[in-house]
Amino acid sequence: MNAKKRVASSAQISVQSAPGARPAALAAPGSGDFPQSSQQALRNARASVSAMPRPRICVVEDEPDIAEVLEFNLERAGFAVEVARRGDTALEAIRRRPPALIVLDLMLPGIDGLELTRLLKRDPATARIPLVMLTAKGEEVDRIVGLELGADDYVPKPFSPREVVLRIQSVLRRRGGDAGAAADPVVGAGTIRLDPEAHRAEVRGEELPLTATEFRLLKVLLERQGRVQTRARLLADVWGYSEDVDSRTVDTHVRRLRRKLGPESERLETVIGVGYRLRP
Ligand code: CA
Repeated sequence: MNAKKRVASSAQISVQSAPGARPAALAAPGSGDFPQSSQQALRNARASVSAMPRPRICVVEDEPDIAEVLEFNLERAGFAVEVARRGDTALEAIRRRPPALIVLDLMLPGIDGLELTRLLKRDPATARIPLVMLTAKGEEVDRIVGLELGADDYVPKPFSPREVVLRIQSVLRRRGGDAGAAADPVVGAGTIRLDPEAHRAEVRGEELPLTATEFRLLKVLLERQGRVQTRARLLADVWGYSEDVDSRTVDTHVRRLRRKLGPESERLETVIGVGYRLRP
C-alpha cells in the first residue's frame, strides 16, 4: 500500500503546452472572416478529417489524473481513446475489441502490467498489438522484464504528455511499416497452401483443422522453407517470447502439425540437435 502511494505521488505529470497543436486550418474563424466559399471549404475539410477512422488507443492506468491527461492529449492528436482502470477489465476490453495500441501502467489493481503483458503476448489474437509501458521510478527491473516480454517502448514517469504522444506515433509508424509491406501473401510448398488473410491452410485442397498456434508455426516454416529453424527461434517468433514456454512445447506442436499434414508430413523435417525445416 505504501509503495503504491509513493509511486502515485512520484507520478506527477508535467503538462506541456504544445505550441501549434491546433492547426490554423482548423481554428474556428469568426463568421465574418471568410467569404462563403472558403467557409464551405473549411466545413468540408473538417468533415473529411472527422470521417477518417481514428486509431483506437487503450490506456490502462488506475490513476485518474494521469489517465485523463493522456486521454485529452491523445484525442487531440487524433486518436480515439478507451481508458481501463484495472488490469483484469483491461484484458477483457482488449480481447473483446483489440485496439491499435495499448498504453500500459505497471502498477495496477486486478492484474499488474507485467502479468497483463504476458497474457496478451501469449494469446495470438492480442500478441501483435503494440504496447507502450509507463514506468515509475524504482521500476527499472520491471521495465526490462516488460521489454523482454515484448513491449515496444516505455515512457518513464513523470512524463510530458507530448512525449507520450510522440512515442506512440513512432511505434505505430514502425508497426505500420511492417503491416504496410503489402497484405500477407499466400505461401505454399508441395500441395500445402496457407492463406494468412483467409486464415486457411490446406493440403491437396482439403482444409486442415489447425489451432491458432499450429497455424502460425506452419506459416513461419513455410515462409522460411528450406532453412533450419531452431527451437529458440520458433519459440520467439511463434510463441512471442513467452518465457515460461518450454522448448519441448515446440516438439509437441511440430508432432501434432506433422500428423495433420498427412500426405505432406514428411516435408516437415527434424534436423537433429538443431530444430526443424520445411522442405520446399
Ligand atoms: Ca498505477
